[in-house]
Amino acid sequence: MAEALLQLSDVHAAYGEVEVLRGLDLEVGEGEVVVLLGANGAGKTTTLRAICGMVGTRGSVRLAGQELVGRPTEWVIRQGIAHVPQGRGVFGSLSVEENLRVGAWNRRDTAGIQADIERWYGVFPRLAERRTQLAGGMSGGEQQMLAVARGLMGRPRLLLLDEPSLGLAQIITRELFRQLEQINREESVSMLIVEQNAELALSFAGRGYVLESGSIVLGGTADEVRGNEDMRRAYLGY
Ligand code: ATP
Repeated sequence: MAEALLQLSDVHAAYGEVEVLRGLDLEVGEGEVVVLLGANGAGKTTTLRAICGMVGTRGSVRLAGQELVGRPTEWVIRQGIAHVPQGRGVFGSLSVEENLRVGAWNRRDTAGIQADIERWYGVFPRLAERRTQLAGGMSGGEQQMLAVARGLMGRPRLLLLDEPSLGLAQIITRELFRQLEQINREESVSMLIVEQNAELALSFAGRGYVLESGSIVLGGTADEVRGNEDMRRAYLGY
């Protein structure tokens, strides 16, 4: 079988002396949407940080067969990964459009950049309406859409999303997930999503993993994960 787009094997990550990931294995196939679930503190955010070279990591993280461990974050991002961190992190004092241009920092194709800006305005009409508005003045949902669109401006193969629904009203979250689904389908961008809203995430993802104390305790298709009794009790509440 061909190697997955993203392949994590026996990954260990630590903040100083404190080991947070303990032998984690996980993969994301080309075009796939995979959700990473787990309790607070299980190491979900750290997993995304390990992929991007933002925490001391051992083991192997490969993107399309290329080893990422030991490389600086900027290099990793250039290989085709976009990381949308928790809390969004848009530049509040820049306009919507300026934020999108920042997302294209690694590109020189001016016409292509403009075409992509218009393309993401098509997917996220709220951003188009607010293109000259300062990002800091927008709602949480709008900032989250901007953070996703900004990540996509780098033309990634893989989008890493850290709790995109955090702090958003349910209706906005559904709109965002619908947009992510469209992006996955039409642009064939693969996604690894950390999400607290397990029900919603599993309805959208093809596969899921459950992380506990830094290693994977359950992995399978979304239906398999949803059907697991421990999983239902812990995360779905029924
Ligand atoms: P949450 O859902 O609460 O965000 P998580 O599964 O994403 O949790 P992580 O943020 O990966 O968990 O954190 C895993 C563990 O690592 C926690 O115990 C946390 O306190 C610790 N940790 C996270 N960041 C640091 C840091 N910069 N320095 C030291 N310890 C950290």
